[in-house]
Amino acid sequence: MSSEEEVSSDTPETGSDGSDDGSTGSSPTKGPDEVFCSSCGNVIKEDAEICPDCGVRQKRATTVEKNPGLAAAASFLWTGLGQVYNGQIGKGIGFIVLQMVNVLLMFVLIGLITFPLTWIYGIYDAYKTAEKINEGKIEP
Ligand SMILES: [Zn+2]
Repeated sequence: MSSEEEVSSDTPETGSDGSDDGSTGSSPTKGPDEVFCSSCGNVIKEDAEICPDCGVRQKRATTVEKNPGLAAAASFLWTGLGQVYNGQIGKGIGFIVLQMVNVLLMFVLIGLITFPLTWIYGIYDAYKTAEKINEGKIEP
C-alpha cells in the first residue's frame, strides 16, 4: 500500500489519481527555480532550453556565463585583458594601446596620473561588463 507522498511534484500533469482539476494558468505562481517563457509567458523551469508549452527555445539558456571576478582579476594583471576575456577584443586592445601611451606620458609626469586611472577603470569596466553579459543586457 503506497502512502500519499508529501513532496511537491515537479510535473504539471496529474499522476495516478483520477482528479480532473486540469485548470492551469489561473494563478501564475513562479518558484525560485522557475522563469517565465520569453514567448508565451508560461512558467517553465529555469534551466529549460525549450518551453514545453509553445516549443520556443529560450535565448538566455545559451548565453555563456562570464565570471566578473575573473574578468576584474585579468584586468588587474594587465589592463585590457579582462575586456578580452569578456569577448570585447577591440576594447581590450584599445585599453592596452592606451596604457602604452600612458607609459610614454610618464616621461612628462602626466602618465603617473593617467596610467593608474586607466588601470582602475579597466578593472571596473571588465567587472561590470561581465555582469551585464550574464544578465543578458549586452552581447559579448
Ligand atoms: Zn512558451
